[in-house]
Formats: sequence, structure tokens, C-alpha cells
Amino acid sequence: MTRSEALFERAVKRIPGGVNSPVRAYGAIGEAPRFICKGDGCHIFDVDGNRYIDYICSWGPMILGHNFPEIRESVIKACEKGLSFGCATEIEVEMAEYICERIPHVEMIRMVNSGTEAVMSAVRAARGYTGRNKIIKFAGCYHGHSDAMLVSAGSGVMTSGIPDSAGVPKGCTMDTMTAVYNDLESVRMLFDQAPGEVAAVIVEPVGANMGVVLPEEGFLEGLRRLCDEKGAVLIFDEVITGFRLAFGGAAEYFHVRPDLVTYGKIIGAGMPVGAYGGKKEIMEMVSPVGKVYQAGTLSGNPIAMAAGLTQLRWLYEHPQVYTHLEEKGEKLYKGMEKILKESGKPYSVNHLASLGCLFFTGEKVRDYASAKTSCTEAFADYFKHMLKNGIHLAPSQFEAMFLSEAHTEAEIEETLLAVKKYFR
Ligand SMILES: *Cc1c(COP(=O)(O)O)cnc(C)c1O
Repeated sequence: MTRSEALFERAVKRIPGGVNSPVRAYGAIGEAPRFICKGDGCHIFDVDGNRYIDYICSWGPMILGHNFPEIRESVIKACEKGLSFGCATEIEVEMAEYICERIPHVEMIRMVNSGTEAVMSAVRAARGYTGRNKIIKFAGCYHGHSDAMLVSAGSGVMTSGIPDSAGVPKGCTMDTMTAVYNDLESVRMLFDQAPGEVAAVIVEPVGANMGVVLPEEGFLEGLRRLCDEKGAVLIFDEVITGFRLAFGGAAEYFHVRPDLVTYGKIIGAGMPVGAYGGKKEIMEMVSPVGKVYQAGTLSGNPIAMAAGLTQLRWLYEHPQVYTHLEEKGEKLYKGMEKILKESGKPYSVNHLASLGCLFFTGEKVRDYASAKTSCTEAFADYFKHMLKNGIHLAPSQFEAMFLSEAHTEAEIEETLLAVKKYFR
């Protein structure tokens, strides 16, 4: 028995499924998850001494690679002054200013502790602002695990085979309407079904929780127009895309201006941070200025802010990181496409910049329904092969691969070699 297997045996007795987040389980793969004890650059190491090229990158936060020296140092330095005060601190002001001064559609911002909280709070603010209740989301988009958002919610839920979560009362989701990704007509129909009742449209501007699904030409612009027409708030859930596609996220990348954005993952550099922000007149609905209540004991705590702000500063001051990620994405994902083509497999790779996903289907994946045509058994087999070859992918068909600044040509070559070996 390996040490990972032994740890997993202990873990399942005391933690549901042995993991503190279901996406970490290898349920779809039928093995014990690898227990990780160290990370360095683009590599992670398990408790059995195996080294892997890491394409999870903590699901995004490690955009500069693991154990990045400046971030580590900033955390150590902040720790020396105390972990949390539950009182206002200077670094929170710096964090808010840093983001608002560089991202034009973020006029005000509030820190929370996770992406889930960010979305839950942004939706509440949108409802408070419009005085309306209904929310339109898209099938296959994940917006965290708050009750109202657990409808056709993508990856974790898809992999476990649960259509929607138990324990969510109908009352909590009756105001959540579900549209089809890349289908503006489906959004218009929902607006027409509930005239004057839709508070917000929330979307992952690049779908990254049903595998990777790109917004087609005009989709995001169309949502902007529909929201303007109907007086609804447009929320971009940039928990994955924020600070990844560009410093200003997908909104900057695609030149579409949302009313509210939610952040998570990269914004905390590995610390538990989320944030929501946007138009001043909406954000001023939030307590203690306005009547929308939202709070957090550890929100904006100085350790998390130190890590996050150091990473954001680095990204902003080194915009070449984004060029590198584009180049590396091209190399890796185009390389995978070429291998598939040569092997005669009908499979495809959806990708944009550092995000990519190999779908085991002949269909073009452009929404939830087409994503679900992917063969998860084939993925499981491929995943095991890659793991054996020292490549750590997310253990689910419906997750993205994340590239970081720390991945070099050498690791991309090694990855492509393993892909080639598999399809030969
Ligand atoms: C990860 C994710 C969330 C939830 O963030 P947590 O920090 O896990 O709560 C929300 N939205 C999107 C798009 C995500 O990828």
C-alpha cells in the first residue's frame, strides 16, 4: 500500500469521501487521490515521493507557480504582526485601491473568503439594487455551492452524477432560471417568461466548469445588450478568468463591461479570498452603507491580503506573464490537437490562452449538452496514463487544465510526449 492509499484509508473514516472538496476525490477514476506534501514552481510532490507536472495549480490561484518566493515572503512578514484583528487594516484599502484603479468596471469592491461567498453576495446586491428576485444562469456554469446557484452547476456535480444537490429546498432555487450557454435566444425567452422580474444574468465569461467552453462571437455582447434592454444586472463570474486571461479578466479580454464581477482563486494567491465589485451605485447597496447585509469575520484578513496583493502587483507589473501564458497555451493545446489529428481520433481540445480541455467526443463542445457527450470512461483511462507518466491533471473530464508562469517548454514537451504515447 502506498502512503497516499494509507492516508486515504484514514481520511474516509473521518472526512466525507476522504476529502474536503469533492473535486479532489478520484471517484471517477477509482483510485486513492495522491496526497500532496509540497509544491515548487510547476511541480507538486506526493507523500510517496513522486513528482508531477501540475495542471491543477490549486484550481487556478498558482498562476505564478507553487511557492513563489515574493508571495511566501509577504505572508511570513505579515504573520509576524498577527494573523487577524477583525478590525479595519491598511492593506485592505491598498488591495481595494489597487484593483479599482486598474480595472475600470470595478469602482468599489468588497473582500470575502471564497468564490462561493462572492457570488452569493453579488447576487444579493443585484437583487437588492433592482428590487427583483429572479436570476438567469447557464447550464454547466458553476458559481459556488450556495443554494440558489446549485442548479445545473457543472464539474463537481456532473462528475458525481448528481443532477442537482439534495438538501436544497425548492424555495431556494425557484427564482433561478437556467439558460443554454452560447444561446442568446434561450436568455431572451427566459426574460420574456418573467417580464420585469429578472434581477441579474450571471455567467462564466469563459465556461471552465463543464470542461472549457468558449463564448462564441457576440454571446457576451448580446448578454450586455439584453441586460441593458431589460434593466437587469450583468454579473461576470470571473473566479477563474479574473487576473488570468488579462489583469482585468475576461471583461478586458473580450471588451465587454459587466455591472458586477466576482473574483476568487487567483485573487488570494492560495489563501482563501474572494471578492465582488463593480458599479458604485450597486456596491453602495451593501451594508453598512445600504440595506443589503453581508459580513465576514475573517474577510480581508492581513495574511490573505498580503498574499493576494503581492500576486496581483506581480501580475500587473509583469504583463509579459499574459503573453507567456498565451504562447504556452498555443504550444500545449495546439500540440494536443495535432496529436489527436494524427491519431485519427475525433476528439477535440477547447482552449483559450492558459485554459484548455480535451473532450472525448466527436461533437463540437459549445454548451452543457455537448460537453456531456464526452466519454468519461475514456477520460478516466487517459487520466491514469497521464498520472503514471508524472502528469497531474484534474481528476474529472469537466475541469480545465491550468497553465502557470512556472511551466516551461520542457514540461510542455514532456506533457505532449505523454499525450502522444497514449494516443499511439
Ligand atoms: C471555483 C469557482 C467558484 C467557487 O469558488 P470557491 O472559492 O470554491 O467557493 C465560483 N465560480 C467559479 C466560476 C469557480 O470556478
